[in-house]
Amino acid sequence: MSTAPNPGAACIMVLGTGGTIAGTGASAASPLDYRAGVLPVTQLLSSIPSMASLPVRAEQLAQIDSKDMSAAVWRSLATRCAELLTQPQVRGIVVTHGTDTVEETAFLLHQLLAADKPVVLTCAMRPATDLGSDGPQNLADAIAVANTPGAAGVLLVCSGRIHDAVHASKVHHYRLDAFDSGDAGPVGFVEDGRVRLVRPWRSAGAGGCRLPALLEVAQWPWVEILTSHACATGTAVHLLCAAGVAGIVVAGTGNGSLHAELEAALLHAQALGIRVVRSSRCGAGRVLPGTADRLPASPLNAVKARIALQLELLAAGDDRLGGS
Ligand code: ASP
Repeated sequence: MSTAPNPGAACIMVLGTGGTIAGTGASAASPLDYRAGVLPVTQLLSSIPSMASLPVRAEQLAQIDSKDMSAAVWRSLATRCAELLTQPQVRGIVVTHGTDTVEETAFLLHQLLAADKPVVLTCAMRPATDLGSDGPQNLADAIAVANTPGAAGVLLVCSGRIHDAVHASKVHHYRLDAFDSGDAGPVGFVEDGRVRLVRPWRSAGAGGCRLPALLEVAQWPWVEILTSHACATGTAVHLLCAAGVAGIVVAGTGNGSLHAELEAALLHAQALGIRVVRSSRCGAGRVLPGTADRLPASPLNAVKARIALQLELLAAGDDRLGGS
């Protein structure tokens, strides 16, 4: 669907992938009883007044509950965004997405794309049919951000706040304001359709060149996430090693500390050549590396550290991917 009569005219592209923002439920009063990824993105756009000074065009890229995000959807989304970013008439891109994995998709796109224009992901905590549906406002805000002169990089807009792809994470399972950027804070706010920045746009630097080679790799490396906790053991690590895992991210306690039994198994895995990276299961802050560390630490949360490790392993296997 296109609301722009002239395909060569400047526009904002909206790519639909599903999520609660496109979800429908049996009743307007039961916000948890619904199916995600039902309504087409054209219908989401028809629920908001046209407020952008540029025409908005829409494409349906996927129609999923983002808890089921796959490498196949990621590939087609990254490929389409990369194509659109090269088109001079595209001012910016908006991606409608489920909240569950939107921080992962945003981080992946940030790693892959040379986003000198805005790539704005948005979502909703209530389905489109709900009494308190937040999708239309979030979508309107995302379009306003994509239409803002100077905006760049991969961003996430939800509940009036603009987060960058590196720091955004889902911190609440129910509240409309479900995302936070931790110590970094949001990039800015959308207020009455206008953007108020509190720190500079973060543009993607390293991305772009990696993408074509990455998409040729049929199977991305298998990287799992484990958590350290009371009474943890090394059993899952041994099973993963036997099954051929390529990398393990472990969400440690506090500053990435690990139960001794789990740590022993992870050191064994590392000695076998499996890449092990420590993150923290704390919702905020970053693991500070220490001189006595026997397992490397990542400043990212576990789900983003998993993607970073996948890309690192891919790069190590293919020097066209630009890995170190
Ligand atoms: N499970 C939904 C999804 O991620 C949740 C949401 O969008 O809020 O697609």
